[in-house]
Amino acid sequence: MKPATPQYFAVPTGLLRKYDRPGPRYTSYPTVPVWTENFTPADYEKHLACYAASDRPVSVYVHIPFCEERCTYCGCNVVIAQRQDTVERYLEYLFREIAQTASRLGRKRHLLQLHWGGGTPTFLKISQIDLLWNKLHDAFEFDPVAEIGIEVDPRVTTPEQLRHLRQLGFNRLSMGVQDLTPEVQTAIGRGQTVAQTEATYKLGRELGFSGINMDLVFGLPRQTIDDFRRSVAQVVKWRPDRLAVYSYAHVPWVKPHQMQINEAELPAGPDKFALFATAIEQLIDAGYMPIGMDHFALPEDELAQGLDNGHLHRNFMGYTVSHSRDMIGLGVSSIGDIGGGFAQNDSRLGGYYRRIDETGWAVYRGWTLTRDDEIRREAILGIMCRMRLDFAELDRRFGIDSESYFHEDLSHLDEFHSDGLLEKAGHSLVVTPLGRHFVRNIAMTFDAYLPHLTDTATTKKPIFSRTV
Ligand code: SF4
Repeated sequence: MKPATPQYFAVPTGLLRKYDRPGPRYTSYPTVPVWTENFTPADYEKHLACYAASDRPVSVYVHIPFCEERCTYCGCNVVIAQRQDTVERYLEYLFREIAQTASRLGRKRHLLQLHWGGGTPTFLKISQIDLLWNKLHDAFEFDPVAEIGIEVDPRVTTPEQLRHLRQLGFNRLSMGVQDLTPEVQTAIGRGQTVAQTEATYKLGRELGFSGINMDLVFGLPRQTIDDFRRSVAQVVKWRPDRLAVYSYAHVPWVKPHQMQINEAELPAGPDKFALFATAIEQLIDAGYMPIGMDHFALPEDELAQGLDNGHLHRNFMGYTVSHSRDMIGLGVSSIGDIGGGFAQNDSRLGGYYRRIDETGWAVYRGWTLTRDDEIRREAILGIMCRMRLDFAELDRRFGIDSESYFHEDLSHLDEFHSDGLLEKAGHSLVVTPLGRHFVRNIAMTFDAYLPHLTDTATTKKPIFSRTV
């Protein structure tokens, strides 16, 4: 079934260009650059204790940082592991972190969502996957219908591993595709073939993985509209449940390995916008619903339904269906959102080990939410996930008069109204179908920290990626 609103079918390139500016993806509010390194393991323990006193279920994210080699465009936290003992040592510390966390939770907590991300989680051998799985089962009470996902790299994930993961209880797969064109795959140092992607996808379906996500990336070197169009056309024929279409962020000053990319081969300006606009049009034409700026889902998928039933949530993994707002992050660089605070582990392997040796925890920065943070976070989540800002709901929840509370912020919304991205409907602001592509820009209006973070006098390079 195609979405009925004609506006879904056209995102004027002029608007993409106009709203393309550095801005947060709002996988948290306040955003990571606001967090402080003064946040200590003792602070983290307080938030865990606060959560432990509740009856809420939990989500868990586990980071496996290893890859065989680094793709030149990669923006993830990755460790290139040549030796098995590197992996074994990491698992030993990860197990210590799991046990330490469980000891603070008092009893086995009800787990509704688990995600293994990376790196390449299937870098682990089957015996190591089993060990990690059992440690997590010792620490948490898995719901029989928990959503259990893993990122798989079609180049290295074997059929045996996929079968084994399914037997264990994994039911969701996320696959990096980026672009199927061989020239682009060569230019990004990945070399993933169409046959590898198709084989992993088809086996995943045969095995009964119920939610399969594919990631596409636009703005990569040597990418042309015709080739990208062919890639998207092939992908929609496979019919994954969800697609994410990310903009390639070329930040060689942060990720020096990106210097291997020939900048002259990067599509820029109108060419880059056109790649994105074409993909949006193809996906919508194929029946996918846009979820925010860069996610798309089939109408029968939980993610698309979450837009209407209010269960859509946004966290460090992007859009999810909200089974639990509290998330524990485990492993190097992982991020948790638990008991009213955010906490991030050390991003370097050496730092991760040292901190666990010294304090039992790997936390190196975080943030305790203030009341204003909580109010603004709800407003931003409302815009990003429910595509509306419901003032009556905020008033009820926080005992405020939200239209007065946000008086100053609301005065900056005229441009969105005149561009047809936002409408007033009773006691709510509603993001229009066209506006769904620009929710990051709209949400930025309500971010109290942003004016300080984007002050170019103090920050020479943009902190955030561009919104397109
Ligand atoms: S496989 Fe993924 S995580 Fe690993 S280097 Fe390539 S892009 Fe980065």
